[in-house]
Amino acid sequence: MTVADYGAQALVVWSLKRSFPGAPFSLVGEEDSDDLLSSPQGLIMLEKVTHFVNETLAASYPGTAPLTTDDVVDLIDYGVSDGGPVGRYWVLDPIDGTRGFVGMRQYAVCLGLLDNGEVVVGALGAPNLPQWSISEVDCAEGQSGRSFVEDGVGSMFAAEIGKGTYTGPLFESGLPMQRVFCNDTLPPAKARYMESFEVKHSNHKLSLAVAGKIGIELPSLKLDSQAKYGALARGDASIFMRFPPASYREKIWDHAAGAIVITEAGACITDTEGNPLDFSQGRFFPPLNGKNGGVIAATPSMHKAIMQALSELPDEMKMFDGSMH
Ligand code: AMP
Ligand code: MG
Repeated sequence: MTVADYGAQALVVWSLKRSFPGAPFSLVGEEDSDDLLSSPQGLIMLEKVTHFVNETLAASYPGTAPLTTDDVVDLIDYGVSDGGPVGRYWVLDPIDGTRGFVGMRQYAVCLGLLDNGEVVVGALGAPNLPQWSISEVDCAEGQSGRSFVEDGVGSMFAAEIGKGTYTGPLFESGLPMQRVFCNDTLPPAKARYMESFEVKHSNHKLSLAVAGKIGIELPSLKLDSQAKYGALARGDASIFMRFPPASYREKIWDHAAGAIVITEAGACITDTEGNPLDFSQGRFFPPLNGKNGGVIAATPSMHKAIMQALSELPDEMKMFDGSMH
């Protein structure tokens, strides 16, 4: 984990508690303070986290009293909730796609709200995602170190159940958000699919086979993080396929915000067998019990075509342990 993962979790918690004073507060967050408190290196990192958190607070909320390292630990450790089927929980991935963040590719701050196991609100902030449609160059390593303001990089997405998905620039506040919809008008030959940048996170051979079967001709866009969900919601691409290794258990914070951002934009999301994603069973998706898991997020017509293609592909092709490349 980086200083940014811890710092973002502390800042999001600080900000939520400030926005909803006195409200019951429960958060399923990716980070906790164990590693920060258990070694001398951890304590040095905690000092750095506290420094950057205070720097950010001073810039955004002048006059705020600086936080101590203990305050920052307390904020991070609000994320220990186990979630579950009853009640309201924030779900936070403070930096989804940490590898993308370090590699200057895509990453996203992802916040969802679960109400009795259902995602009812979601927000994604993707600092390196351009405000125009993504192109291959924006996904490539080291291509994102451009000026955010001059180049229009940095997108945010927000969705509320039944109210649609909206997008706007991340770094220029005050501009109106625009409602967006996924683009289900493209024939397969013109449609794009997305997948993880990291080859260990998803079976790229299987996604290529599915794409070929449904008539997709363009190469995949490889992006880290839930930035993929934002890109799907605004029509940059039509499909996101994720086929993780069989032993991998998905965590709810890796999909909660992204899932509502695309469904409120008219797209569909299920596992690879067509079942709805289940956010109600704690910090992880439920055990697979022989199912294939994974995530298929796509426009309605593409989702249907992918389900059909997957049902026709042999099981051997679906086996993946994260190292078959
Ligand atoms: P993506 O960039 O779409 O692959 O998603 C990034 C997320 O993948 C991270 O936040 C991790 O939680 C998750 N992840 C980590 N290791 C693995 C793995 N071996 N297989 C699948 N996903 C993983
Ligand atoms: Mg993540």
